[in-house]
Amino acid sequence: MDFPEPAPGEKDFILEPTACGICATDVKLVTKGAKEIRFALGHELAGKIVHAPENPKWKVGQRVVVAPYLSCNQCFFCKHGQPTLCPHLYDVSILPGGLAERVLVPAELAQRGMFPIPQKLSDELASLAEPLGCAIKGVEDSSLQKGDSLLVIGDGPMGQLAAAAGRALGAKTVIVAGNLAHRLAVAKLHYADRVVDITCEDLAKAVADCTDRRGVDVVLATVSSGEALVSGIASVRSGGWVNAFAGVPEGTRIELDVRRLHYQQYHLTGSSGVAPEHMAKALDLLQSKEVDYSKIISERFSFTHTGEAVAYVENRVGLKAVVTFLE
Ligand SMILES: [Zn+2]
Ligand SMILES: [Zn+2]
Repeated sequence: MDFPEPAPGEKDFILEPTACGICATDVKLVTKGAKEIRFALGHELAGKIVHAPENPKWKVGQRVVVAPYLSCNQCFFCKHGQPTLCPHLYDVSILPGGLAERVLVPAELAQRGMFPIPQKLSDELASLAEPLGCAIKGVEDSSLQKGDSLLVIGDGPMGQLAAAAGRALGAKTVIVAGNLAHRLAVAKLHYADRVVDITCEDLAKAVADCTDRRGVDVVLATVSSGEALVSGIASVRSGGWVNAFAGVPEGTRIELDVRRLHYQQYHLTGSSGVAPEHMAKALDLLQSKEVDYSKIISERFSFTHTGEAVAYVENRVGLKAVVTFLE
């Protein structure tokens, strides 16, 4: 799709993207049809500054990542430390989106949501700052404590990132449940202590075996279905946390055993979006040597082959696809 070339205001920045991850949200936007597309696709963006206003902090040529949108910092939710609930979240955003030849970063977004890429980090890996930031937020929203057990339902890129983030943030036992052997193999090698192939294994039994029959401390449901959440609820220990991390279609409902919720006092929550603080933490984690995040990127496509990248993600061929802009 053609979007008009962004015209920067006096204090705005222009980036040339170098790497942009494709995620399930992009696939959703493509399959929903162009009329619902507010931006060009792409919100997992790394790039190079090609136009900067007079500003001592930034210079042309610098490599950066930028948050796709920004909370207002003024409203009830922002003042309560819940920026991703801000009703103005999309008022300030990258334009037209990350999958474009040039991307405008409004001054306010640059000020609070743009970060230099550390020297040792490639642009490709830095483009994981946004989705890893979402995973970090999911783990934090679920009150994961050091030494906890974490069950991630879903073996896709977000599931792998959630497992990786959980491990980096102190989970002692990480279990990944999924249904694709090639993805579970990556999880087993790099991000999980135990993987459960739900096509042939009993998740409840595997969880019981790993947790002295107690259930896990934290569950992140990264699969877009009510069933994923239901099996998460069945796996959590009394007093633990279950997070509806994946976006689901409108009308998705589950049946809830309220008696169990009352007596077993587990917490049921959700996580959506990302704030700049999570992306800053993600950049820190991406630099650390504890976890090798690079295995989450399984394929690269050039900008002219973006359509193939979207199909690759939609068909769950590998894990994450990144569009690279370098010739
Ligand atoms: Zn995404
Ligand atoms: Zn706000």
